[in-house]
Amino acid sequence: MKAPPPRQRPGFPARLPAGTPAPVPARQHKPDAPPAHAPARPSGVGMDSAAVRAAMVRKLQGQGISHPAVVAAMLAVERHRFVDSALVNQAYEDTSLPIGQGQTISKPGVVARMVELLCQARVQPLGRVLEIGTGCGYQAAVLARVAKEVYSIERIRSLHEKARDNLRALRVPNLHLLFGDGMVGFPQGAPYAGIIAAAGGNDLPAAWIDQLAVGGRLVAPAVTAAGRQNLVVVDKTANGVVRTELEAVHFVPLKSGLA
Ligand code: SAH
Repeated sequence: MKAPPPRQRPGFPARLPAGTPAPVPARQHKPDAPPAHAPARPSGVGMDSAAVRAAMVRKLQGQGISHPAVVAAMLAVERHRFVDSALVNQAYEDTSLPIGQGQTISKPGVVARMVELLCQARVQPLGRVLEIGTGCGYQAAVLARVAKEVYSIERIRSLHEKARDNLRALRVPNLHLLFGDGMVGFPQGAPYAGIIAAAGGNDLPAAWIDQLAVGGRLVAPAVTAAGRQNLVVVDKTANGVVRTELEAVHFVPLKSGLA
């Protein structure tokens, strides 16, 4: 198979021809009259991605995200670097976007929520974290800012490689990308202070619970007794595991084997 040509890293915002005068915003943002549900969309060359990201994070804070490390990580990681150039203008909307192979980059709101839940584990600060489902590498980059060491596994080789390409320029020394089946976890890095899954199956694999440290926390989508996919938190204590089911979510399926 012929290797595809190297992908041009999209600039931000995308598709604005050089020399285009900055469009005048239709309406100024007034603190007392926030634009209701307006997407955090870049509105011109004068607005850089940091401002758009800050607007996204303000919305996340409005939805209840408050952990300082999570807020700082969501402000710092440039989500537009992880999506295809045609989707760059949507990078800071609270929406999942296709990343190829039928997979998606998770919504920023879901990433922030899950990482915040992980940060509330009893082991503080977060030591080693295992992520199942690297995808494009966005959440892994966020995790690497809140944990000492991150191992992230992806079962689809082309996505594992895409994440590696996306992350190369960011030089994240405490993030280790692995190609493999995350259903079996990664025993070499265990025990983990936190495990986070970006894909949902019927059950939580026993390997994940086994590889969790005492005091550690697993955050993952899973099917509940009601037959719906919900966010599930499992805390491992000296006396056993405590499972808490939270809100409904919609994740791509957890699959076994490699592709
Ligand atoms: N965290 C990612 C989300 C990617 S979507 C991001 O920020 O982009 C979930 C990913 O989980 C998909 O890429 C899918 O291939 C992967 N996945 C599903 N089952 C898996 C398994 N058993 N092991 C590893 N990765 C898996």
